[in-house]
Amino acid sequence: LAPAATAQLGTQQQADGRQAQRHASHKGSFGDVAVIGGEGLSARGMGMTGAAWLAASAALHGGAGRVMVALLDEGTTLAPPWPELMLRRVHALDWPQLTAVCGCGGGEAVRAVLPEVLARAARLVLDADGLNAVAGDSALAAALRARADAGLSTILTPHPLEAARLLHCTTAEVQADRLAAARALAERHACTVVLKGSGSVTATAGERTIVNFTGNARLATGGTGDVLAGLIGARLAAGLSPHAAASSAVQAHGAAADQWPAHQALTASALAAALQ
Ligand code: AMP
Ligand code: MG
Repeated sequence: LAPAATAQLGTQQQADGRQAQRHASHKGSFGDVAVIGGEGLSARGMGMTGAAWLAASAALHGGAGRVMVALLDEGTTLAPPWPELMLRRVHALDWPQLTAVCGCGGGEAVRAVLPEVLARAARLVLDADGLNAVAGDSALAAALRARADAGLSTILTPHPLEAARLLHCTTAEVQADRLAAARALAERHACTVVLKGSGSVTATAGERTIVNFTGNARLATGGTGDVLAGLIGARLAAGLSPHAAASSAVQAHGAAADQWPAHQALTASALAAALQ
């Protein structure tokens, strides 16, 4: 066979293999994602459930087998906006099976559940208020660091201000050397770090640091960060390494924005639904 034909044959065999794998799989094969966040509108909460729904939608469209949502306000009795989502109590989650995506719209309430999340989640994507809580609490920072020793994987997804809080420096200092900032955080917390913004940086100690070139300023709109966290969660749940899950999700999230029709508004919920 000519080289081109052999290459084609290889691709066909790979496709057949994937097809067979798909036939043998059930929803558990693609992994469970639990989104923990979304403080409800109450005396304490600010009504930030939208962030949790966005992350959950991105996890669903990103291919997770099952997506659960644990809202942080126990008093919240909202119906999920999509019937595929399952509501759970944080304390009733099946931690060893899960990839947790924690912090989206979590407000102050996330602090109370973080000790349990950090100690028990098999795989964890920590975003937004989850990061802010760790930045302000050395006991939580120690619990985060202990995850690596226990063999539990963690991905942090700070934007520059959240990274500055974690590093106890200014946003300008983070932006002046984004690679160094991402690597310093990855080292300090013994985990994978995605430093977001134009040219998102994925860093893990011992791995090659990756700078992403997809995405554009249209992503600078409310909720796109929550969508990214959910997509990373789906890929981590599917069995990718933290470094591969994070960098490939960042690439796909940006590519979806780059392919967005010029005349159509880019909203976070539409972005989540467009993911694959
Ligand atoms: P957050 O700051 O948590 O709301 O997340 C915003 C998301 O949009 C992140 O994935 C950023 O990397 C992305 N983003 C925001 N602004 C830009 C930009 N100018 N170019 C590329 N990506 C961006
Ligand atoms: Mg955010």
